[in-house]
Formats: sequence, structure tokens, C-alpha cells
Amino acid sequence: MSPSSASSLPPSASSLQKNRPAIFLDRDGTLNVQVVREGKPYPPQSLAEFRLFEDVPAACRELAAAGYALVVATNQPDVGRGDQQQAVVEAMHERLRSLVPEITRVEVCYDPGRGEPSLRRKPEPGMLLDAARELNLDLTRSWMVGDRWRDIDCGRRAGVRTVFIDFGYAEELRAAPDFTVKSFREAAGIILAHPDCRNLNPGTTFST
Ligand SMILES: [Mg+2]
Repeated sequence: MSPSSASSLPPSASSLQKNRPAIFLDRDGTLNVQVVREGKPYPPQSLAEFRLFEDVPAACRELAAAGYALVVATNQPDVGRGDQQQAVVEAMHERLRSLVPEITRVEVCYDPGRGEPSLRRKPEPGMLLDAARELNLDLTRSWMVGDRWRDIDCGRRAGVRTVFIDFGYAEELRAAPDFTVKSFREAAGIILAHPDCRNLNPGTTFST
């Protein structure tokens, strides 16, 4: 069989099974410590303020060892609004990837969130779908972890299971998450305890 005919064949069931599941990770308030003012979370403003939650590197190592691609998906609208420099955000992501080398990919949306919405800005699922296409991810076995309604709605729209880290912000969820936890460590524990998340009933909410 020539290489060209092989490449034109549809993927077989066995090759599809080799597609990796992913854990899509929000950034601020999920991996790194957010700044909370009057009940609302904000991103760190400088590289000096960028600090991971203590349990994140070890939990990410465990999740990667379990076979998950780790894909960060973050809205950074301050760049699009002119309130933050893109270079500062990129330096944060370089720091993040040096502290958590298991991270496979970082998807960023700089859309300011005004006017015509970007299909990549959460709650739209574009960042997840783009990464899934690039990395051949199996969305039916994948998860989204985040601390705000946009993360949960985004995960639902991409068809993945969702884990909500609840910090008690002064804002309401919209779609119901599959699980609600209080820390990234707990989120990782939930995912590791459900290696075949296809068996979960969609929309069922569990709390630890
Ligand atoms: Mg967040």
C-alpha cells in the first residue's frame, strides 16, 4: 500500500481508540491564584503576582500520568481591551509551562468581549474544539475544570464533563456542572476516580 493511499483511508476504529482524552483547564482561579475584589475574581496583573495553587504541579503530574493531555483554555480580555500587555500574559504562560511541564498546549482568547463575540471566547467552545482538532483529542472522554460559569458552559458546549471549583464568588452558574469541588486537588481526584466518564449521566451534579 502506498503512503498516499494509506493517508486517504478513513481512520479505523482502533486508531480512533488511540485518541487521547484531555483535561481542559481554565487558568485564573484554577491553576493560578486569582485576585478577588468585592466577590469577583480577576487575573494577576504582573508576572510577580502570578502564583500557582500549591497542589497544582503534583496534581497535573498525576493527571498526565493517567494519559490525559492537559490543555489550558483561558480568556484574557484585558489584552483586547488594552488594559494588559500581551507580552505579560505570554510571560505568565512561559512561567506556567516551566512549572507544569506536563501542559500540552495553551489556548488563549484575547477577545475583549464587546461587540461581535469570538467563537473562541468562553463560553463558546472554540478553543477546546481547535485543540481537539490539532491534537486528535477524544472529547467523549475529556473534561473541563474551571471556577466560573463561562468555563462550565464552554465545557458543556464542547460535550465534555465539567468540574466546577467553587470559591463562592458573587456570581451565579448558568449550566449545571457535573461535579462541584473546593480545590484543584479535589477536581483531579474526581477525574482520576472516573476513568470512563462516558458512563456518567449528563447534567447530574455531584458535590464532594
Ligand atoms: Mg477562572
